[in-house]
Amino acid sequence: MKKLPKGLRITIECVLIVIIGGIATNLVDRIPTEPKVKNIIYLIGDGMGLSHITSAQIMQDYEPLNMERAEYVGLCKTYSSNSLVTDSAAAGTALSTGYKTKNGMIGMTPDSVAHPSIREKAELAGLATGIIATYPVTNATPAAFVGHVPHRNMEDEIATYYISNEVDVVIGGGSRRFDQRADSVNLFNTLRDKGYTIAFNMDDIKDVTSGKVMTLLNDDSMPTIEHGRDVNFLADATTKALEILTNNSRKNKKEGFFLMVEGSQIDGWAHKHNLSGMIEEIKDLDAAAKVAFDYADKHPGTLVVITADHETGGLTIVNSNRKFDITDHKVDFQWSTGGHTGGMVPIFAYGTGAEHFTGVFENTDLPRIMCRLLGLNED
Ligand code: MG
Ligand code: ZN
Repeated sequence: MKKLPKGLRITIECVLIVIIGGIATNLVDRIPTEPKVKNIIYLIGDGMGLSHITSAQIMQDYEPLNMERAEYVGLCKTYSSNSLVTDSAAAGTALSTGYKTKNGMIGMTPDSVAHPSIREKAELAGLATGIIATYPVTNATPAAFVGHVPHRNMEDEIATYYISNEVDVVIGGGSRRFDQRADSVNLFNTLRDKGYTIAFNMDDIKDVTSGKVMTLLNDDSMPTIEHGRDVNFLADATTKALEILTNNSRKNKKEGFFLMVEGSQIDGWAHKHNLSGMIEEIKDLDAAAKVAFDYADKHPGTLVVITADHETGGLTIVNSNRKFDITDHKVDFQWSTGGHTGGMVPIFAYGTGAEHFTGVFENTDLPRIMCRLLGLNED
């Protein structure tokens, strides 16, 4: 090819640089600046493995669950620092602090060093925070988002972390750890002094739209749905918590919130091999997922992550011609253990930043990614 005179070459190069530069600028302009994650809704199904979710799908003839709206899915390894089969304390600690620990320990590594949970870091940064569970709010999973104790059975002590922390919204069971304590202290009085609204049924907080609220609906665990809990309890509690957190966060020094919602009793029924009871609990969590996803649709900057702490029961779905008491779907639901198993669990992510949750993860990765997205220190 004939060589172009030097002057013309330079001119063409300049024109090209201007054109390419212009296109690049244009493209950059057209990429919407990704809204930063401001709000995180973290739903944890205790014991909710893939077969548990599949069972719920089968029971509604494969009508999609709300969780299936998730834009990104991943898998999560659940083992703890001393066992390939975790308990909820070690798993809760991993999912809240980003550190593996020994089974039974809450919010600390095996060397007894406490590590802050993502909720505590969010609170410290000025975000509004909330905890919802149907077990006592001092039980392992919620405990890992508020306290630091060497053993999960230290529930009186875990309750005192609701005094030293300031969780904006707490809804769940377990009032006896606050007013029937070994030390005879009534923690509800202390919380009232701190400005909390204390309530013992959802009706009493119907008109509460902001401020600090603790609603404990049972002495101990709330009843399961099979034993009379409202079928929409978690969805209603999530709706109420989101209302309060949204309002509180607007008044805070940093706008945004972190909410953990636990489907606590999926695990309990799986331990007992009660399939229908377990599915009702999954559907309650799934209804809360719809509330969370809908909120994320209306509030850009909201990330929803759903996962489990471990699988419970070793549930498998096998072929069968038998007709079963609860279904004629020609499958048999078999359980291989009364305990937990070491299988991976699913992650469903939706909303701003959801794309970061596709792949295979350690359970400790989840709070670390969430912290990064919220602009918090991940350690
Ligand atoms: Mg739990
Ligand atoms: Zn369990």
